[in-house]
Amino acid sequence: MARIVQKYGGTSVGDTDRIKNVARRIKEMQAGGHELVVVVSARSGVTNELLARAKAVCEFPSERELDMLLATGEQETIALTAMALQGIGVPAVSYTGAQAGIFTDKVHTKAKIKTINAKPIEKDLKAGKVVIVAGFQGINEEGQITTLGRGGSDLTAIALAAALKADKCEIYTDVDGVYTADPRVVKDARMLPELSYDEMLELASSGSKVMQTRSVEFAKKYGVIFEVRSSFNHNPGTIVKEEVAYMEKVIVRGVAVDKDQAKIIVSNIPDKPGSAAKVFRALSDSNINVDMIVQNVGRQGVANLTFTVPQTETARAVKALEPVLAAIGGGPVTVHEYIAKLSVVGVGMKTHSGVAATLFQALADADINIELISTSEIKISIVVDQGRADEAARVAHTAFQLDKA
Ligand code: ADP
Ligand code: ASP
Ligand code: MG
Repeated sequence: MARIVQKYGGTSVGDTDRIKNVARRIKEMQAGGHELVVVVSARSGVTNELLARAKAVCEFPSERELDMLLATGEQETIALTAMALQGIGVPAVSYTGAQAGIFTDKVHTKAKIKTINAKPIEKDLKAGKVVIVAGFQGINEEGQITTLGRGGSDLTAIALAAALKADKCEIYTDVDGVYTADPRVVKDARMLPELSYDEMLELASSGSKVMQTRSVEFAKKYGVIFEVRSSFNHNPGTIVKEEVAYMEKVIVRGVAVDKDQAKIIVSNIPDKPGSAAKVFRALSDSNINVDMIVQNVGRQGVANLTFTVPQTETARAVKALEPVLAAIGGGPVTVHEYIAKLSVVGVGMKTHSGVAATLFQALADADINIELISTSEIKISIVVDQGRADEAARVAHTAFQLDKA
């Protein structure tokens, strides 16, 4: 008998027929005598719909009320999934995040999980029930409902797998696993049988939304091996685990595109020590995540600073910069939202050279202009025009022969 945590994403529980399909799959699994904890997301589209409704009644809704609203999406699917199971004779019980003992910090809309009290779940598992848990939500020490950031049901599943010492953690979604690129964009992308936590982490944080970034960080920290696979067939998926030596033989594992970034240019700041520090201090004091940064060569005592931030934070970033520029001088600040970040990722980059040259040449041959560049040990990212991002992904994919086994 194994203890298994499964997570079904929004498309997999997208309507009542799909919920019944999930219930049948759970029944098959349970017939094998396993203990099952199942995390479900809201039906696909529901979280976005709820967000739109919030905006329709209030321009800047409070984050507490947003969490109150967004958590309802998952509450619908846990109840329906439990009912679907009961309907086919499987004892099942649904739990909200709070009932599942998922305690978070106080940060509404992107709370971090602090502890999990797994006792109530353990008790129902012992009683032979399938436990259905609402993804994406928890409760803080003041008893307030919190949510874990977009895509946060992945985190619920990984954290429960760690807390319950599960033998297996399976993330069921609408593709067969993790591919060398988004299969919707790059038609000849291939599914990867396995990849390392670090590669999954870089792909996720670079825009491959198949796994939430924070869930992968959590899995790495607690050594939770997980499998990403399809809820529409029984094919084996992608195993994500600790890096092993042979993984370094592959130089580039995958390509990711992030269209949710914006580029900000702060022009004419004084070219002297302290200017950049003041600019980025102001941004960090406002909790704004800055990603790529470039400062050009100063001329006549002034320089331009260019960086990227999540598109949702551009307005706040511009506001945060106002007092700094008033104090040190400089400006104007210009925002370019129609950009995209393209990244190539692979642990083999640590031991191979020439990756950047290959990427830049391929883009040059396709006449795609590179606006910004940044690199890490296992990743190269560039900013390109958003209108050419998908094409750039296909070009990079071919250049590194990711379409070939
Ligand atoms: P779920 O609702 O199951 O959590 P998501 O929509 O969050 O599913 O994630 C699955 C989607 O991620 C796929 O439909 C696919 O288009 C997209 N995706 C992006 N990059 C990749 C990749 N490298 N491999 C697989 N899927 C990817
Ligand atoms: N329903 C939430 C979202 O759409 C959480 C999830 O799907 O993982 O972001
Ligand atoms: Mg998801």
